[in-house]
Amino acid sequence: MAATPVYLDYNATALPRPAAIAAVTKALGLCGNPSSVHGFGRAARRCLEDAREAIAALVGATPAAVVFTSGGTEANRLALQGLGRRRILASAVEHPSVLQGGTVETIPVDGEGVVDLAALERLLAAGGEPALVSVMLANNETGVIQPLSAVAELARRHGALVHGDAVQALGKIEVDIGRLGVDLLSLSAHKLGGPQGVGALVLADADRELRPLLVGGGQERGRRSGTENLPGIAGFAAAAVEAVAELPEIGRIGALRDRLERAIRNTVPGLTVFGAGADRLPNTSCLAVPGLTAQSVLMALDLAGIAVSSGSACSSGKVAPSHVLTAMGREVLAGSAIRVSLGWASRGQDVDRFVEAFGQLANRIRSAPAVSAA
Ligand code: PLP
Repeated sequence: MAATPVYLDYNATALPRPAAIAAVTKALGLCGNPSSVHGFGRAARRCLEDAREAIAALVGATPAAVVFTSGGTEANRLALQGLGRRRILASAVEHPSVLQGGTVETIPVDGEGVVDLAALERLLAAGGEPALVSVMLANNETGVIQPLSAVAELARRHGALVHGDAVQALGKIEVDIGRLGVDLLSLSAHKLGGPQGVGALVLADADRELRPLLVGGGQERGRRSGTENLPGIAGFAAAAVEAVAELPEIGRIGALRDRLERAIRNTVPGLTVFGAGADRLPNTSCLAVPGLTAQSVLMALDLAGIAVSSGSACSSGKVAPSHVLTAMGREVLAGSAIRVSLGWASRGQDVDRFVEAFGQLANRIRSAPAVSAA
């Protein structure tokens, strides 16, 4: 009998939570448009506003400050384009949806992938016009956690606004907009067990002016037109509430991740774990063994029924070297980087299956006689 598949790619998309599936199904059964005034519409509106209140409460914001979007990418674009700031400073390890939208001045990171605060200070001091600083709370590839409140404090001293991409952080570490001191936060449902294609941009100041990317019907207080994705939003809220409620037990996931890294270190010589010297999300391990190419490892693991990603997280399937590992000065090993990311349904046996398969693969490839390229 074929072994049960092992899913260790939660940072790409988490396994959907049963509570989210139930909430999506229930909301799909509501036929009204949340903007309609009749009873059907009011029921849909209640479902929408309950979800808004739940998401707001999870990150310490007010419900009016939550703008539902089609996901983390749109939330990031709305933050960067909606404030009207022309000067944007972003860390070199941000998600492509931050780095690729226009001219961005990059803030370097150190060898662990942590943003260089002194370099940020120099950039802030050099510029004439007020900037927007965009730094993620946790990195999708390495799990490295950024000193976002220190970034916000520094930025504020220079009159800059701050956006934090918390897409990978919510449900894995505490995310509180007030404590972080940022002006905007991006969230995404499918990273914590909700549906794909839904997320939110959360504002610290519910009345901050935000130029919409999408205009039309004026939904979301005019900040994001288009009938809201009610089933998606209901599923997002259900998943996020459960993920945050489970935070006190996140140590279980951290212990599994540590066990995985320890076991690989003990069986495979030459292991590198990227960002291991920094604070990391408890669920993420980005690792490499020299001589193993990520693509061949991914394919071999896939054949064994084990799903992980190559180093470049949201762009799994692309062979381009990871800009995150390159920014960390690790481009030489970047082609070997495998990202293992655990989540709410991960168990010890998943870790054991990965360790066994990866160990066998690494030792087989390393002991194979070298073939010279003709
Ligand atoms: N930001 C980070 C840190 C991510 O990992 C992702 C993942 O894709 C995104 C933004 C984009 O989110 P979404 O897939 O919801 O557009």
